[in-house]
Amino acid sequence: MGTKEIIYLDHAATTPIEPEVLEAMLPWLQEGFGNPSSIHRLGREARAALDSARDSVAALIGADYSEIYFTSSGTEADNLAIIGTMLAAPPTKNHLVVSAIEHHAVLHSAHFLEMLGYQVTVVPVNSDGQVEPQAVAEAITDSTTLVSIMHANNEIGTIQPIAEIAAIAHERGALFHTDAVQTAGLLPIHVHELNCDLLSLSAHKLYGPKGAGALYIRQGLKVSPILHGGAQEREKRAGTENVAALVGFGKAAELARTRRPKDAVTIAALRDRLQQKLLEGCSELRINGHLSHRLPSILNVSVEGIEGATLLMNLDRLGIAVSSGAACSSGSIEPSHVLLALGLPPSLAASGIRFSIGRHNTFDEIDRAAEAYLSIVHRLRRN
Ligand code: PLP
Repeated sequence: MGTKEIIYLDHAATTPIEPEVLEAMLPWLQEGFGNPSSIHRLGREARAALDSARDSVAALIGADYSEIYFTSSGTEADNLAIIGTMLAAPPTKNHLVVSAIEHHAVLHSAHFLEMLGYQVTVVPVNSDGQVEPQAVAEAITDSTTLVSIMHANNEIGTIQPIAEIAAIAHERGALFHTDAVQTAGLLPIHVHELNCDLLSLSAHKLYGPKGAGALYIRQGLKVSPILHGGAQEREKRAGTENVAALVGFGKAAELARTRRPKDAVTIAALRDRLQQKLLEGCSELRINGHLSHRLPSILNVSVEGIEGATLLMNLDRLGIAVSSGAACSSGSIEPSHVLLALGLPPSLAASGIRFSIGRHNTFDEIDRAAEAYLSIVHRLRRN
C-alpha cells in the first residue's frame, strides 16, 4: 500500500487524513481508552474530548453544540434525519419529498419508508442537475413532514438553491433536511442562512477519519432514534461513541474552518485547468452538471462511445485514481442514477468520469492526469 506514485483525484470518495488529525486521534486509541459514559476519570476525560469535538463541528456550520448528534457516518446521519423525522411525525403526516439525485443514503432510506407504507415523492432535476424550487413547491402536500435536498451533489458537484427550497418547505409547514456531506470544507455552511432544520456531515470527506459523522438537529425538533440501546447522544443515537474518530472529526472541522477559503480558491484553479486541458484536447467532451453553481472540486465528463469503467481502469494502470459515473451492481455496470436524472442517454451516462480534486493536488498532477485521460480516450476511439 502506498500513495507516493498515485495521483489521487478521488476526494469526493474520501480524503486522506491530515497529520494533525491523526495526531489528535492517537491518544484516544492508546492511553485515553475510557468509555465516555463512565463516571471515573478515564470516562470523564473521554467525555470532555467528545464535547470539545462537538464544539468544533458545531462551529463549522454555525450551530450550537447541543444541536450536534454524532453518528457512525454520513449514511447514518442521513438515515437518522429521514427515518427518525418521519417516525416522529403524526400518522397523517406521512409524506416525504426527496430529489432524484440524492445519495443512496437518502434514496434508500426513502425507499425503506415506502415499504413501511409512507408516501414518497421524488422531484426531478433539470439538465444541469438543479432542483427547481417550483417542482418542490408542487410536490409538497398537506401531509408532507420533510423535504430532503442535498447541498451539492457528490457525482457532478451541482449546488442546489437550498435556502430558497427550505423557505418553500417551511411556508408549507414542512421541515427541511440537507445532506452537506460533500460541501463541508469547500463551501461556507451556516445552518441559519441555509434555513435548514437538519443537516448531515461526514468526517472522511474533510480530511478526517472514516466512520464518523454528525447530524445537526435544530433545537427542539422531534427525531426518533433509529438505533436503540443506551442513552448516548442525548438518547438520539445509542452505542458507545467512537471517541478517537470523533476527536479526529473535531480536529478536521477546526482545520476546515480556517483552510476553507484558501482551499476553495486553489482547488477551483486546479479544476479549471483540468477542464480547459480536457476541452482543448477532446472536442466531443461533455461536462456533466452546472457550469457555475458547482463545487470547486468536482469535474464530471463524458465522451460518447467510451466506457467510463474502461477509462477508469486504464487511468488506474497509470497510477491515476478517479471514479466512474457507473456503479457495479450484481456483476453488471449500471449507469449512475445521477447522470441518468440529468437526461443523459445510458451510453453517455456510462461514460462519465468524475475527477475530484483536493487540497494537496498540484498543477503538475493535473497536467499529467489530463494528458493521460486524453491519450486513453484517443487510443480507445481508434480501436
Ligand atoms: N451523502 C453524500 C452526498 C456522500 O457523498 C456520501 C459519501 O459518499 C454520503 C452521504 C455517505 O457518507 P459516509 O461515507 O460517511 O457514509
